[in-house]
Amino acid sequence: MNEDLRRKIISMTEALENELKDAFSEIDRLSFELQKKVLDAFTENRISDSHFAWRTGYGYNDDGRDAVEKVYSSVFGAERALVRTNIVNGTHAISLAILGVLKPGEKLVYCTGEPYDTLQSIIGSDENPNPGTLKELGIDYETVDLIDGEFDFEKIEKLIKEDRPRMLAIQRSTGYGWRKSITVNQIKGFVTFVRNLGSDAVIMVDNCYCEFVSSDEPSAVGADLVCGSLIKNPGGGLALSGGYVVGREDLIDRISYRLTCPGIGAECGLTFGQTRAMLQGIFMAPHITAGALKSAMLFGKVYQKLGYDICPDFSMERADIIQAIKLGSKEAVYAFCKGIQSASPIDSFASPVASEMPGYDDEVIMAAGTFVQGASIELSADGPMREPYNVYYQGALTYEHGKLGLVSTLESLAEEGIITV
Ligand SMILES: *Cc1c(COP(=O)(O)O)cnc(C)c1O
Repeated sequence: MNEDLRRKIISMTEALENELKDAFSEIDRLSFELQKKVLDAFTENRISDSHFAWRTGYGYNDDGRDAVEKVYSSVFGAERALVRTNIVNGTHAISLAILGVLKPGEKLVYCTGEPYDTLQSIIGSDENPNPGTLKELGIDYETVDLIDGEFDFEKIEKLIKEDRPRMLAIQRSTGYGWRKSITVNQIKGFVTFVRNLGSDAVIMVDNCYCEFVSSDEPSAVGADLVCGSLIKNPGGGLALSGGYVVGREDLIDRISYRLTCPGIGAECGLTFGQTRAMLQGIFMAPHITAGALKSAMLFGKVYQKLGYDICPDFSMERADIIQAIKLGSKEAVYAFCKGIQSASPIDSFASPVASEMPGYDDEVIMAAGTFVQGASIELSADGPMREPYNVYYQGALTYEHGKLGLVSTLESLAEEGIITV
């Protein structure tokens, strides 16, 4: 390793880190507030170490499972929660909300443009003729694009009046797009707008990467259903697997019948000893998310200084932990991901290569040397192999690790001659 280069990179990084002091204090203040909210959820629900035990067989009367779901309900300001290890990922959680609620002949409208890549295979198309898609089930689907990051209320109003959609979906984080994330305030405005039109459409929010980035979660401001993954923010880096759907009692009940089967619902399902990790994970989540958010800002600051376009930039309110950087070439994305991988505690010796992934159309490169496979609350970066070659950075279980990851990406890009420091 070139010591001189490393010294230069660290001194540039730390000079820019200094400029983020005020923003970091604001994140610390929020994290303190959210830690209190989570702690209150534990005390109100009288969580005890007996909740770390688990059942076998049918899993009836599993107090630990119920405890996890009560804590989530309290934290998310929701009537009820499903938080399960057998919700296999975020896509599954979102698909449960969609397929658990919608019936043939009804309509889903995505109000934030085309959703995340893996959702496309649930919607279905001529290129995606999977069995069980919305298309096959005869559920109508339409998207309304955002305008400069804001809802297109005119179009949404027209659709509500003409087509009476049963579900309106909001994806907060951009996925592999290029826009700022949707804030809780925007969702609050959306809910008010829809209800003022007299619509009782189910408002469903894909909350991936947005948990604990704001004071409130969407369920606390009127969203009917909120979904996400436990190997992102709310698992705090400790949950081994799982997803959540929280929201209105009657809807969660329906969705539980989709998760298992009609009549059984949420009454069965083992936790396989995961309740301690899930509880400790959400307990840690405000702090872990704060560190991830700070590291995303530091990446943004440094890459912006190097002349790259970033999203969000510093004029935008952040509602998720993602920092997108327009690197502009395949070589740069490879070098960036190599830098992340080599600064990872696990599999640091591996070199990430783009490949086909289930649910994604383009080849995707993913750098993640994580304790939990694919956990993007841990230091990670990924991006689809398509123009304009954006990379999406997220995670880091500690801010310090995020900073080390940043230094490593800069070294990697400098060694390839892509940047000069
Ligand atoms: C991560 C993510 C999902 C779900 O992805 P999984 O890999 O299935 O957990 C869905 N929507 C958005 C916006 C995401 O970032």
